[in-house]
Amino acid sequence: MLKTPAYAARLARSPLEPWSVERREPRAHDVLLDVLYCGVCHSDIHQARDEWGGASFPMVPGHEIIGRVRQVGAAVRAFAVGDLAGVGCMVDACRECQPCRHEVEQFCEKGCAFTYNSTEMDRRTPTYGGYSSAVVVDERFVLKIPACLDPAGAAPLLCAGITTYSPLRQWNCKSGDRVGVVGLGGLGHMALKLAVAMGAEVTVLSTSRGKAADARRLGAHAFESTQDATTFRRLAGTLDLLIDTVSAPHDLNAHLGLLRPQGTMVLVGVPTEPAPVHAFSLIGGNRRLVGSLIGGIAETQRMLDFCAEHRIVSEVEVIPIQQINEAYERMLRGDVRYRFVIDLASLARP
Ligand code: NAP
Ligand code: ZN
Ligand code: ZN
Repeated sequence: MLKTPAYAARLARSPLEPWSVERREPRAHDVLLDVLYCGVCHSDIHQARDEWGGASFPMVPGHEIIGRVRQVGAAVRAFAVGDLAGVGCMVDACRECQPCRHEVEQFCEKGCAFTYNSTEMDRRTPTYGGYSSAVVVDERFVLKIPACLDPAGAAPLLCAGITTYSPLRQWNCKSGDRVGVVGLGGLGHMALKLAVAMGAEVTVLSTSRGKAADARRLGAHAFESTQDATTFRRLAGTLDLLIDTVSAPHDLNAHLGLLRPQGTMVLVGVPTEPAPVHAFSLIGGNRRLVGSLIGGIAETQRMLDFCAEHRIVSEVEVIPIQQINEAYERMLRGDVRYRFVIDLASLARP
């Protein structure tokens, strides 16, 4: 076993603190990565604070991992020592069931192995995430990181990128479409960049007026405040697709009213409380309200290649791991532009 320094939440709501995890010795199909960078997703906060229930502690969060390959198992062909590689939200799945065969391993009938706060497929061995100096992952769940992408800026693509790319593709976002992005945080700014690269005309809907200039700089056609009651009247019935990334309770009916007939609103954000939806919000105009969970491994690789082609990375604020608790507080205040990324070199410091 490989003793590996990490940061963990020892209990729900306890601050993250130094800890260490045991990584397995690489097996024939495993890749051992020295973690260079790990993005900080709002899901890390939800889980470290047990807001979704059933969390396992101690917990080492982190599922936006960029690393350098230190070692490969004897049967590994796709990766070599020294390669830049990535790990996202999943580290394994059964590989045989219908969803696994259709490249949506996140819906594995046996339950996929998430990168942390989960178990390996043996259902006994806990998984620990990327707030650590190394990870060992089966090559089938390791992504190739295009060399042209800045490694720190690429880390958030492994969750924020794929989580927004997948519904944009599923709902056929294309040139000329009018897309609304609700919430300009980690996921929201990736949805904005990706939809713009797909040719859409993007309107950012935000509670933070101070983000207007950034939204424009990142390619938004328009920026609208959801705090302004006239916004929902002025924009009623104008959008083809809405990607809702908001992590806190908000009025879904008001947002559904922004859709054109037969338009689609995709929930990717996970508010901690249920929200009422009036039947007329959907019936009037045959509107759809749907959800989307991350994306499969093959689609994640396609997203990375799309980002390489369009030179898309996340806007990041790189922090040492010692600042992780402060970063969580800042994210909860909406004070992040637009993704914190941990530089794991800091873990070696005393
Ligand atoms: P984030 O960086 O904190 O961004 C969330 C944004 O939501 C904020 O920047 C803010 O944008 C807006 N917001 C926050 N509180 C709000 C409120 N009370 N009312 C209205 N808007 C508010 O978080 P993230 O990492 O992007 O994650 C967003 C959500 O997606 C989280 O719930 C996370 O768990 C979830 N998630 C889901 C998936 C999936 O597979 N479906 C994957 C990853 C994450 P403005 O300042 O612009 O208003
Ligand atoms: Zn995430
Ligand atoms: Zn499966």
